Formats: sequence, C-alpha cells, structure tokens
Amino acid sequence: MRLGLAANRLHHARPDAALFRWLRASGAGIRALDIGLHAVGRTFDAIVERDALAGHTGLQRYPYGREGGLMTLVAEIVGLGPARTLDGVVYLIDPVDPSSIFPEAVALKRQCVIQGKPFLSTVASARDFIESERLHAGLPADPGADDLHAFEQQTLALIAHDAMKPKMLEFVERHFDLLSRFHARVATGTTGQLLNDLAWQRGWPLDQSWTQRFKSGPLGGDAQIADLVLSGRCQRAVFFEDPHVARQHEADIQLLERAVTTVTDTVACLTSPAVADRWAQAAARRAAMP
Ligand code: PGA
Repeated sequence: MRLGLAANRLHHARPDAALFRWLRASGAGIRALDIGLHAVGRTFDAIVERDALAGHTGLQRYPYGREGGLMTLVAEIVGLGPARTLDGVVYLIDPVDPSSIFPEAVALKRQCVIQGKPFLSTVASARDFIESERLHAGLPADPGADDLHAFEQQTLALIAHDAMKPKMLEFVERHFDLLSRFHARVATGTTGQLLNDLAWQRGWPLDQSWTQRFKSGPLGGDAQIADLVLSGRCQRAVFFEDPHVARQHEADIQLLERAVTTVTDTVACLTSPAVADRWAQAAARRAAMP
C-alpha cells in the first residue's frame, strides 16, 4: 500500500506537531503493514530531520510544493499505471495556511473522493485509517486506538449530497447496529429525515429520532454541524459529497471540512462510501474481538 503524504508547515514545524503525533501513534502500524509514504519535499525533509520513521524503508521523496509535489500526488491518486498509483493520501491541513486552498489541494481531495480513496486530513483520520488497515490485515487491535472506537461516548455526523443519498442509505442499512452504538447522531436536514425514516422502518422506537436533524445543508446545516465539531461535540463525520456537480453552498461544505482540521486530533472524517464501508467492517471486527 502507498499513501501520499503532505503536511502544511504548522503541522511539521515543531517536534510535537501533528505530523509527528501521527507518526508516533501509527508508526508501528505503518511499519507492520509496510506502507509506502510518498511525501512532498518539506514534509519528507522534516521526517528525515527528526528521524521520525527510523528504519522504515518505504519513505519516498517528492518535489516541493512549488515544484509540483502536490500536483504529482493528485495525478497518482487518479493513477498512472501500477508503479505510480497511490491508494490514498494523508494531507494534514492548517486551515489558515493559504496553500490549503490552492487548486491542487482542492483537486487532491476531489480526486480522492472520485476514486473512492481515503483523504485523511486530520491526525485522528490518519490514525483511524492505520488502525482499520491493521484490523483488515489480521493484526491485533492497537490499544492506542481505543479512543477512536469508544463510540458510546461519541457523536457521529452523517451528511450526503442529493446524488449520494441512496449510497448513504445503503451504508446505514448495512452498518445500522454499529452506527446505533454512537452516543448520538446528527445530520443535515434532508439526510436526517431519510435516515430517521429508515431507522423507524427497522423498528427504532417511533417516539425517538435516530439522528438529530439540523438545517438542510444549503440552508446552513453544514455550518451548524461545524460548530459541534469546533466545540468538541462531534468526533466523527461521514460525509458523502457529490464531486460532479457545482454546489450552491460550496463555501459551507469547505467550512465544515476545514472545521474538522482545526481539531485535528479528535475528529475523524470518512469521505466516500468505499472508505466508510471499509472503516465500518474494521470497526465491527474490532468490536467482536475478545
Ligand atoms: P441535506 O444537506 O441533507 O439537507 O440535503 C446536505 C447538503 O447538501 O449539504
């Protein structure tokens, strides 16, 4: 497996920066799974300088951002043949770093969504992914990832754009018991209505909502859920966006995605049906472990 890797300056500038927190938490998993990390220039340099992946042979250097490093990651997420295809990307975003809204940064997210590959923009998302892959590989659960699986203490956000609503319903139908373990669920208005209807059809008590509905996305629901994220009241988001249409509320969508990156250690995001399914299968497997 190969992951692209980039971190905005804030996230590799100090020994306790986000990039190093991730590598400390997930380094053993990265080594055990022999994951190739294809890191753009400054991110690569920072890892080498701090010896943050000592002994791991899978670290590869890509050009600096100004030389096209991030653009190359986008092309390799799309795929350029067996030798040049990435399986996902870790891009630790600082929302006030201007480069986080450069076209190549936006395209990186968009192509991950289109190709159904993980776009891991927070420390929690990146830790979560490595733990899921450990479980899929048959490795034991990492106790260091217990916090990510304490669903009973967490709130889950569920959001799907119109073309993706059938996929969201299928996802929830498939993993209903797992998702019902969360302390609470929240959703944008229309998504939430559909999910409540589904839950009631499945026998959820009629006097209870399965998910708390906020406003519809275009009317401000994304911003309302972003506030939950920012104030530490939401720990996971399943966001199935439609990358193939112009979105009237693009700014709100980006706002929510960037809100998640401000609380990088505590919120994990699942950005497409394929990625969310793979997470849910791993989580169910972990829950069934003795
Ligand atoms: P909706 O909002 O669930 O109300 O459709 C989702 C969105 O479009 O952001």
